Amino acid sequence: MTDGVTDQLIEANRAYAAAFTDPGMDARPVRRVAIVACMDARLDLHAALGLSLGDCHTIRNAGGVVTDDVIRSLTISQRELGTRSVVLIHHTGCGLLTLTEDFRERLEREVGQKPGWAVESFTDLDQDVRQSMARVRSSPFLPHTEDVRGFVFDVTTGLLREVHPEGTQAP
Ligand SMILES: [Zn+2]
Repeated sequence: MTDGVTDQLIEANRAYAAAFTDPGMDARPVRRVAIVACMDARLDLHAALGLSLGDCHTIRNAGGVVTDDVIRSLTISQRELGTRSVVLIHHTGCGLLTLTEDFRERLEREVGQKPGWAVESFTDLDQDVRQSMARVRSSPFLPHTEDVRGFVFDVTTGLLREVHPEGTQAP
């Protein structure tokens, strides 16, 4: 009998493995793309983008923001595992839209120390996508920054909307 969520996951994995056949792939993503997206539970990247096993790297965190650790993963993705394109995805209704840097102050009051990381909250989705694109493009560690595109995923329609780097709206 299982009750905890992790036990349920282990149970599901047994069924998965029973039907699994080794696809015989190596670690290099077939479609040579790395996707940086929010960890939001409503965003199923593979289904939303028509991706299959082995196609891409997915790098996810709260907000889908480009932090130093995302740059670390992208650097390894491009330099060691052959990806060339970067896709950045934020989404409507993101939890980071309702947080502020005051979150750090609250943590400090509660636990006695401030975290070393920034909350990376934002109030303007498009602006934060643009900032993320700029961080990728300006990284000295990334050899491939020609194909970097940013999007906002609408959690109510399932559609992606592209954000243009210069802040101009598509007609
Ligand atoms: Zn989010």
